[in-house]
Amino acid sequence: MSRFFSSKYKALTPYTPGEQPQDMKYIKLNTNESPYPTSEKAQRAAAEAAKKAQLYPDPECRELTEKLADMCGLSFENILVTNGSDEILNFAFMAFCDESCPAVFPDITYGFYPVYATLNNVPYTEIPLREDFTIDTSEYYNKKSTIFIANPNAPTGIALSLSEIEEIVRQNPDNVVVIDEAYVDFGAESALSLIPKYDNLLVIQTFSKSRSMAGARLGFGAASRELIADLNTVKFSTNPYNINRMTMAAGIGVLEDEEYTRNNCRRIQKTRAYTVSELKNMGFESTDSLANFIFVRHPKRDGEGLYRELKARGILVRHFSKPRLSDWLRITIGSREEMESLIKTLREMLGGN
Ligand code: PMP
Repeated sequence: MSRFFSSKYKALTPYTPGEQPQDMKYIKLNTNESPYPTSEKAQRAAAEAAKKAQLYPDPECRELTEKLADMCGLSFENILVTNGSDEILNFAFMAFCDESCPAVFPDITYGFYPVYATLNNVPYTEIPLREDFTIDTSEYYNKKSTIFIANPNAPTGIALSLSEIEEIVRQNPDNVVVIDEAYVDFGAESALSLIPKYDNLLVIQTFSKSRSMAGARLGFGAASRELIADLNTVKFSTNPYNINRMTMAAGIGVLEDEEYTRNNCRRIQKTRAYTVSELKNMGFESTDSLANFIFVRHPKRDGEGLYRELKARGILVRHFSKPRLSDWLRITIGSREEMESLIKTLREMLGGN
């Protein structure tokens, strides 16, 4: 730390992204990216847009926003697109949380929530998940705080039903409830349909997972006009041109290639079922994941040891050292071939069980 670093950030521990080692070629199952390439339509649109990179992009992102609004059955004023969904999560902490309105989220969830809270000087409370990693929804009623819930949750993959989400929103009429649906396209129910009914609900989605665009950085929020207007105030006070031309064009392109996205999601769900069943045959336990990753542990092997041995054998998965998670591994669902390699490697490691 330099002697110039503002004292307001002294307590800040930054988020640690999944490792991207360059020492050899790995099967990368550690950052929940899609194994399938970006839609060709999106690629072509981005290449075309690059020809005009000398010009600023549309700060309103009108065409893409209108397309998303159509897709969600909402209006232009109900949508804000951002530089990955991380950006709108940060905007939500900036816009809807402060000393008098703290944040609340589960103790085990996306690791960026406590970082954004600390960055923005927002007090926060973490509500422990039950022993089986499920959320006790009644603990989120009448919180007098801004609530952040990833649905499906990360890194467990466990999802709440739409009626459970609606009850949380209904039980907090005077506070914002943020539902982070980064992984919703792999089998869970979206809360987008509740937006016309509740002015305190913000639903966040991303193009990074189901739409194979993690490298382009595109996410969006959907909510009442009033919430989106507040988020726009924050956006236009930080980075009005938050979406570059190439990403904007690729986003439009991929939305015009919806069948490609839906098909990839189906393939990932099928590969997820296959992987879970093979790992269970080897003695692994698994949560009931509806995401593009699974969360597993082996009763006879510690999580860190498995992670290290897999890495030495060229397969990257994610291990978290937090006490309740240290036995577990989060494994992204890759292509069928990648998962076959994982299964073969684990069989060798576990001695053919
Ligand atoms: N929410 C959750 C629950 C996530 O796991 C991630 C991915 N790390 C994000 C949001 C952010 O994704 P992105 O910024 O790529 O949209």
